[in-house]
Amino acid sequence: MKALSYEELRAFEGRAAATGSPGKDPVNAPMIRHWCEAMGDTNPAYEGPDAIAPPTMLQAWTMGGLSGYEGRSPAHDELFALLDGAGCTSVVATDCEQEYLRPLRPGDVITYDSVIESVSPLKTTKLGTGHFVTTRMDVRANGEPAGTHRFRILKYAPARRGSGAPPGAAPGAASGASSDASSDAGKKLRPRPVVNRDNAGFWEGVAEHRLLIQRCRSCETLRFPWLPGCNACGGQDWDTVEASGEGSVFSYVVMHHPPFPAFDPPYAVGLVELAEGVRIVSNVVGVPYDKVRIGMPVRLEFLRVDDELELPVFRAAEGGEV
Ligand code: ZN
Repeated sequence: MKALSYEELRAFEGRAAATGSPGKDPVNAPMIRHWCEAMGDTNPAYEGPDAIAPPTMLQAWTMGGLSGYEGRSPAHDELFALLDGAGCTSVVATDCEQEYLRPLRPGDVITYDSVIESVSPLKTTKLGTGHFVTTRMDVRANGEPAGTHRFRILKYAPARRGSGAPPGAAPGAASGASSDASSDAGKKLRPRPVVNRDNAGFWEGVAEHRLLIQRCRSCETLRFPWLPGCNACGGQDWDTVEASGEGSVFSYVVMHHPPFPAFDPPYAVGLVELAEGVRIVSNVVGVPYDKVRIGMPVRLEFLRVDDELELPVFRAAEGGEV
């Protein structure tokens, strides 16, 4: 791990990340429709012959998709390599700001310039210590300025786990997106579940060794994992039923790579179909990873993982002799 001078990082401020890059598609009605459906935005301004694009779609027209970006300078990659080399291996998007200069309409051809606007001094946050990097993108439609999109990320070295954050309070970005490069030899704990008001009842059930499935009060459809509303009827009132604990392996994967702290590959992750009909992702225990099979009967039990965490897991009823 290499020490970084702030001067070295600041030298990137003002460097172009992309110049005159083309959007992959012109502004178009199908992308607008899909976006509005995904957002649940029924504003009539986004439909019909005089439709405009939702202003907040600004970034969508510049995204590279799976095939990547064209016309990028190496500045961004160089900055990230420098930060990676200094131990700031994790990244989280923190916020964005947009300014709209003119509406976008189907047929508009998009180009954009992107510049590394600022790199902050070293900052310590709850997630870890690192640098905020702000990129500004100036978007043009048919060559005219159409809007500005500022996007800020934090490139950071993750804070040591278990230093203050209460169980269940770990933000998703911290447990999901980070690549923990620390090399402490201490015992790694399994990631804490994110407990929120939508799923707290599930974890209260686990504490009492009951696997609770939500049931819609309107149409009685069972649902798992826990959600605020019913996918079948939209109803928001629900109660619970306790799973009998019987189930079978609906599908599974064997994890070899990548390694995660507290997990010892290879291991099997099962998608277990409960007797009640809903499915849950869990570990299949009591059988070697290479003996897990689709259709294998399993039975619920509760595994104490560490002092603070207990999880529902499923024991192979047949001891692997399938
Ligand atoms: Zn329902």
